Amino acid sequence: MSEHFSVERGLFDDVMVPNYAPAAVIPVRGQGSRVWDQQDKEYIDFAGGIAVSALGHCHPALVGALKEQGEKLWHLSNVLTNEPALRLAKKLVDNTFAEKVYFCNSGAEANEAALKLARRWALEVHGEEKSQIIAFKQGFHGRTFFTVTVGGQTAYSDGFGPKPGNIDHAEYNNLDSFKALISDKTCAVMIEPLQGEGGIISPTTEFIQGVSDLCKQHNALLIFDEVQTGVGRLGELYGYMDLNVTPDILTTAKGLGGGFPIGAMLTTTVIAEHLKVGTHGSTYGGNPLACAVAEAVLDTVNTPDILAGVKAKANLYVASLKAINTKYDVFSEIRGKGLLIGAVLNDKYQGQAKAFLNAAMEEGVMVLVAGASVIRFAPSLIIPDEDIALGLARFEKAVASLA
Ligand SMILES: *Cc1c(COP(=O)(O)O)cnc(C)c1O
Repeated sequence: MSEHFSVERGLFDDVMVPNYAPAAVIPVRGQGSRVWDQQDKEYIDFAGGIAVSALGHCHPALVGALKEQGEKLWHLSNVLTNEPALRLAKKLVDNTFAEKVYFCNSGAEANEAALKLARRWALEVHGEEKSQIIAFKQGFHGRTFFTVTVGGQTAYSDGFGPKPGNIDHAEYNNLDSFKALISDKTCAVMIEPLQGEGGIISPTTEFIQGVSDLCKQHNALLIFDEVQTGVGRLGELYGYMDLNVTPDILTTAKGLGGGFPIGAMLTTTVIAEHLKVGTHGSTYGGNPLACAVAEAVLDTVNTPDILAGVKAKANLYVASLKAINTKYDVFSEIRGKGLLIGAVLNDKYQGQAKAFLNAAMEEGVMVLVAGASVIRFAPSLIIPDEDIALGLARFEKAVASLA
């Protein structure tokens, strides 16, 4: 037996690399959209582990899948394939534009695979001149050196020495700035169909359509990073389905595992061909445990009822946040789509999103920020309406304490 001893928050500073600054409390259990800390204080979870816990905490279908697979087979490596991986891949293919799937363990890894595949495709099909990657300012694609450099915040990629090359950034929702960069030397364009970390920014129809058209015109692969927007978050299985645009490559993670680490890259057969045997891989990618849980997530989320529920719950949030704003005048805008919602702080509260998050924790509700001035909500897609009401009542108290 391993030795158990009591832990407190102070231990983090003693034994953990200081790249995070976690809150003062330590949660110990969760059920549905509620979480309890070591002192048994209850929180309504509007954060969802940063848009990960798509079905809340300890959903019976996911716990069931984990237990069942946990007693059968955990791991094999990619020397062999396995049933859960093949079932999940088949369902992803059947329900999207994609024909081929690559599994990995996180969003960054899915994007890393997408970018490597795009570079290889361009090299093999068009030659070495075609290597430029275009992405967007404020975009976020993960923390490997390639993906963080493709991301649109140099603050995250500076300070690590020489960066991967030939990566340029246009302005989101500014088609002219994109037009000025794209050419026949562009290999791929990586874009979020709604910028999450960047502040909950939806693309205009004209912009996303224009980006897609220009990619076709210049033979550049369009890569949709749906790590945050995928698996029902915006009210469709994937965000692209509501945009009249089909990507060449799509990446998905976060909600896909509902809290179990998994990522996937989806693409077409002709593009996939360029990741031949031995060109890329991951020890845990396609792990049976992860795939069994993700299959249960996909089965549960991808139903008309759940997806319609996302839209209804989103309306509830927006109406309630507007009502709070009528009383306290703290937001300039409530934006986003589905259950990825941003409350933008007005001029008076610029840069204070973290203070609202902290006050909300005090009142017993967990929210997120997206940049310094946007409060982000990314709850479970099946959060009960009562929990939305209770959590927003607590959030209103937090707002009142600061306004
Ligand atoms: C979170 C996120 C990532 C990175 O995912 P990890 O699992 O943390 O590597 C990539 N892209 C987007 C859009 C994200 O929101």
